[in-house]
Amino acid sequence: MQTTQTDGQSSPNYSVFSLEGKLALITGGGSGIGFDIARCMVQAGGRVVITGRREQPLQEAIEKLGERAYYMVNDVTERALLNDLVERIEATYGPIDTLVNNAGINMKKPALEVTDEDFDRIVHTNLNSVFSLTRECAKRMMARQHGSIIMISSMAAYYGIDRVAAYAASKSGVEGMVKVLASEFSGNGVRVNAIAPGFIETAMSKTAMGGDPDRFARAMRRTPMGKFGQPDDIGWAAVFLASEAAKYITGASLPVDGGNSIGF
Ligand code: NDP
Repeated sequence: MQTTQTDGQSSPNYSVFSLEGKLALITGGGSGIGFDIARCMVQAGGRVVITGRREQPLQEAIEKLGERAYYMVNDVTERALLNDLVERIEATYGPIDTLVNNAGINMKKPALEVTDEDFDRIVHTNLNSVFSLTRECAKRMMARQHGSIIMISSMAAYYGIDRVAAYAASKSGVEGMVKVLASEFSGNGVRVNAIAPGFIETAMSKTAMGGDPDRFARAMRRTPMGKFGQPDDIGWAAVFLASEAAKYITGASLPVDGGNSIGF
């Protein structure tokens, strides 16, 4: 491995932020934040496997991402199939260095209108499946003494945002799980961290705002930087956590939220 040059004369030929030689599995990578995580990781020199339930967006995504991107159709809620998914990816593309648990769903309803089915569906996708896929990847990573696991959480885990009871419960569960897994896995070279996005401009946030200018204005009042984040703001944070630059970071939750977490 070449070392960073510090003489200021020539550009560095090695960067601790490089993902060269690393393979990442990114769930829900065909659109929104997941797509930009994949895009940033490819730009940082890595290879990515993206998943999702629908084939067409995945195909279109890898056409844009280029030859270091691959896809597999997979529904993370089919938990019994996740071991097989990891096995197929590793057999085809090599060992997974980074897992990004990005796939997620939301639903805005007053708590009293949320049915048990609604609640279960959201927690099943955003929390239960995240645990199962993490376990299947972590056991292989731990055997290799190397790996980075990144959960895409949400500021909804920290603040009382109205009408997202199930979503907030699922993301709070993820935040709690990060700390326990980070502690359990750290002796075997596997780091576990979360990124907690604020308002990021994607299909999900557009649906959540419902084209309502009052809701948008309220969201911006709670955002010191006064604007939505872009999906690549999360992408670059994920590159950092996957890279050697973050080799001493585990059990952390990194807010990428334009200042929401400063408080109101
Ligand atoms: P999008 O709705 O734009 O994208 C979600 C992606 O997840 C899609 O590619 C979808 O593909 C995939 N997906 C959904 N369900 C499943 C499933 N069961 N199995 C596999 N893939 C699935 O959402 P965002 O990009 O906005 O959100 C990504 C993550 O970021 C989520 O975890 C979300 O909670 C989090 N987040 C987003 C914020 C925002 O403001 N946008 C704020 C805070 C957190 P397909 O439908 O083909 O399966």
